[in-house]
Amino acid sequence: MTKFSDLNLNPKVLKAVDEAGYETPTPIQAGAIPSALEGKDVLGIAQTGTGKTASFTLPMITLLARGRARARMPRSLVLCPTRELAAQVAENFDTYTKHLKLTKALLIGGVSFKEQEALIDRGVDVLIATPGRLLDHFERGKLLLTGVQIMVVDEADRMLDMGFIPDIERIFSLTPFTRQTLFFSATMAPEIERITNTFLSAPARVEIARQATTSENIEQFAVMFKASRRDREGSEKRKVLRALLDQEGDGCTNAIVFCNRKTDVDIVAKSLKKYGYDAAPIHGDLDQSQRMKTLEGFREGSLRILVASDVAARGLDVPSVSHVFNYDVPGHPEDYVHRIGRTGRAGRKGKAFTICSPKDEKALDAVENLVKRQIARHENPVKPAPKTTKAKTKPETEEKPLRESKPRVSSKSSETSKPRESNKPRESSKSSKRSSGRRDDRNVVGMGDHLPSFIALSFAERRAG
Ligand code: AMP
Repeated sequence: MTKFSDLNLNPKVLKAVDEAGYETPTPIQAGAIPSALEGKDVLGIAQTGTGKTASFTLPMITLLARGRARARMPRSLVLCPTRELAAQVAENFDTYTKHLKLTKALLIGGVSFKEQEALIDRGVDVLIATPGRLLDHFERGKLLLTGVQIMVVDEADRMLDMGFIPDIERIFSLTPFTRQTLFFSATMAPEIERITNTFLSAPARVEIARQATTSENIEQFAVMFKASRRDREGSEKRKVLRALLDQEGDGCTNAIVFCNRKTDVDIVAKSLKKYGYDAAPIHGDLDQSQRMKTLEGFREGSLRILVASDVAARGLDVPSVSHVFNYDVPGHPEDYVHRIGRTGRAGRKGKAFTICSPKDEKALDAVENLVKRQIARHENPVKPAPKTTKAKTKPETEEKPLRESKPRVSSKSSETSKPRESNKPRESSKSSKRSSGRRDDRNVVGMGDHLPSFIALSFAERRAG
């Protein structure tokens, strides 16, 4: 087995690695570090959780330990798809450079240009950036990329998903062609293949088996769920999620709940909080300081449940998550691999539950094809309410609407006629008028079958009448 001391790393880097408590290099480290130290391009096919960050930071630091940075001309560049990932890479640099005098700057949105420019002006050895912010700085004329000797592209497939590939190509073209490139992606989509063929020169290819196909530490379950009515889908699904959390009880020390849409991230987090769960949302539309604070709380253990979108959570290094809940089946099966890879890390046991409604069954099939296993079906912990006569049916008031919506009193948009999540009859004149033909089928729970006809009239109709 390879040891860190066999890898030719700078002794001060080795000391920091030792202090970080790492005993042996992970496969991606053992595979990538020697080639990177020889100055070769590296194509690493590995995802987060495999130790890939250290697989590029350790050789970079070793190579940069000699030499000095010049003003506005960073010596190396690390591109990350999200701010959180960039911040995490920056933390890694701090850890491993603690015995060396290397400087770094982090260029991410949400931080003032001035502060960042001051750092660049002084000269940095390592620049860690998201592509958009880097190009903003470049266009302001404050940054030159002609001194870049090593360039890292991290999570390239996520860059592709986020539409950053044109930016990446432009950045490549702004750096010297003699640079060394270390390129990481969890998957090799054709577009990624094209980029690597264009910009990498005879790279050493290091491929690490996908986590989901190898990690036996994660127990995976799918909970098939069908809403009793379409307009109750949201509230009933959140109920399933709460029931799963309750069922897991204390065994669920901390969890990430993934939603496909940002709006659902907000709604689910709000709903959980309302029901007394310790939860907070994280997605790209939240401001930077709030995202950082939430993440910090989750890492420290002061926040138990992180409700996240794929992009925000991608690459986050949060050790020892006991559970992952997929509120939706992800649209891209690879995202399932990334999501559940948040649990069952470093030899620990983890559990992943995926709530699957009928419309998501195809997506679940795609996941099962990718991970080459049948995901065990888990009984829906929410039992359907026993069928009783209408008069006896209790109104389902378990959840008030949680939409961010402002009161849509006079809105004419089709949204107005969307059913609400609670059973309260709507008072929108438009929708009532439009649906007046269906008035008789309206299920006004708790009023018995004899509904006084004025109840079914809208305000406007009542006023008019
Ligand atoms: P990454 O894939 O870079 O996000 O790393 C995942 C986690 O593994 C991080 O918490 C690292 O600190 C940790 N790690 C990286 N390399 C090693 C190693 N050689 N031994 C133990 N843990 C490691």
